[in-house]
Amino acid sequence: MTSTSQQFFSSLRERLGPEAVDTAPETLARYGANLLPGGDRLPSGVVYPGSTEEVQTVVRAANTHGVKLWPLSTGENRGLGYKSPVRPGQVVVDLGRRMNRIVEINESLAYAVVEPGVTYAQMYEELGRRGHKLMMDTTSGPPEGGILGNTLEKGAGYSPYFDHFGMSCGYEVVLPTGEVVRTSDGALPGSQTQYLSKYGYGPFLDGLFIQSNLGIVTRMGVWLMPRPPVVRSFFFSFPDDEDLGDIFELVRPIKLNNVVPTLLKVTGDLYAVGTEETYPFGRTGGRTPLSAELRKELREKHGLGAWIVSGAFYGATEEAVQPLIERVKAHFLKSGKARYISHAEAEKSRILKIHIDTFSGQPTRDELGLLRWRPGGGAAWFLPATPMVGRVANEHQALSRRILAEHGFDLILEYACGPRMSRALHLLIFNRQESEERQRAGRCMRALIQAYADAGYPVARAPIDVQDEVMARLQGVPEVLSRIKKALDPQGILAPGKYGIE
Ligand SMILES: Cc1cc2nc3c(=O)[nH]c(=O)nc-3n(C[C@H](O)[C@H](O)[C@H](O)COP(=O)(O)OP(=O)(O)OC[C@H]3O[C@@H](n4cnc5c(N)ncnc54)[C@H](O)[C@@H]3O)c2cc1C
Repeated sequence: MTSTSQQFFSSLRERLGPEAVDTAPETLARYGANLLPGGDRLPSGVVYPGSTEEVQTVVRAANTHGVKLWPLSTGENRGLGYKSPVRPGQVVVDLGRRMNRIVEINESLAYAVVEPGVTYAQMYEELGRRGHKLMMDTTSGPPEGGILGNTLEKGAGYSPYFDHFGMSCGYEVVLPTGEVVRTSDGALPGSQTQYLSKYGYGPFLDGLFIQSNLGIVTRMGVWLMPRPPVVRSFFFSFPDDEDLGDIFELVRPIKLNNVVPTLLKVTGDLYAVGTEETYPFGRTGGRTPLSAELRKELREKHGLGAWIVSGAFYGATEEAVQPLIERVKAHFLKSGKARYISHAEAEKSRILKIHIDTFSGQPTRDELGLLRWRPGGGAAWFLPATPMVGRVANEHQALSRRILAEHGFDLILEYACGPRMSRALHLLIFNRQESEERQRAGRCMRALIQAYADAGYPVARAPIDVQDEVMARLQGVPEVLSRIKKALDPQGILAPGKYGIE
């Protein structure tokens, strides 16, 4: 540890108390851990502020001693960075440990105010304690993941409130120089509408704090929806890989015309069965990836096809939603290839229940089963955009299958479909303990990013291993961000290198 970091840690021990600083080797190992091909990145220490004022103290001390910080809310960003800073030696500011209060729930205006450590599981429990009058949108990821951290990553769920940034309002931010700024209507002292009116007055600042290193967000409003009395999902299973094109053509009008209020998920076979199964190395004699025949066998074991389409309706009664279900049934069954699976039938399947849960605002642990598809604990997300055009979807499917197969990996893919664009959620699962496989996974991730970028399809989020490379492909924006960074963080203390911003 350098003498400047030592001075930094001693000054914080003095001002925040000894328990607010941890530099024990096991703590550094835990916070340096991630699941990515590039390896762990150990911080030089971890600090646990307990209030906005204490975050200001940490930031000011970092400026005084020239120490670099890495903020975390709950540190559950699995497959994108987990707890690990973008660069070794940065000091983790774990906000979630002590700043984890649900500050307010307003039931009539349907919003909550949260600190960084508030998890999906915690909010679900609190809403339940209050009689489930309100429903939150949740991810299908770890229930101990945080609402604020996920929002700052441009995370998303699947209900009508899927767009977590869109459904957040009014940030309290500690700037890299230590001042506090409140965005949206919160900028007016005494404002009564900070958590209600998103865009405020003048240029919209909130976006500056998303996927960035321009401030530490210490509080945020999140909009909730009144919980509908009845949530009824529907499922359609399609038998063949090439059906993806037809599925996209069927989904687009349903979303453009707002027939279904949720996103529509189009889940690939291995994304579905991989939550329950592990790679059958015994059957393949150790060969990878899984052959089309074995893949078919595995999905048929679970009564599923190559793609499963799902969505949900909300209503006052079962009778009110049934005609809507009949309408989508007629729409999808006209393809002649789809098999309908009802909500009641799906509830009996652990695999399909994951989707019912996410459409119902209920956190689930079951999708995390995907992380066990292969041994060795490696996982990385690749998240490009695909237009809602069947031809393009099938081209993308072929591109991804080819690149993954060339590197010996399986296509584990789910599309989260809106009216115009779908987020193609690729999960690359690999053995991180095997150095050759780990390096191959790194090459595969880069080959996917390159191929999609060359074809004109950017990603929305990227693992810390490649954040700078992805940013470097953009034109104009990196230069503007770098100028803003220099203005707001002249000493470059806040997470330099995050999302490629210096
Ligand atoms: C099987 C599986 C399914 C998943 N499903 C989904 C899904 O449906 N949707 C989805 O979005 N994700 C999903 N994920 C990804 C991920 O696990 C979640 O998005 C996770 O909730 C985000 O991590 P977090 O909330 O713990 O944020 P953190 O890890 O705390 O932080 C995330 C990022 O934001 C920054 N940050 C955090 N807090 C602050 C702050 N207060 N101020 C400034 N910067 C900050 C951090 O530096 C970090 O870069 C899934 C993962 C897995 C493994």
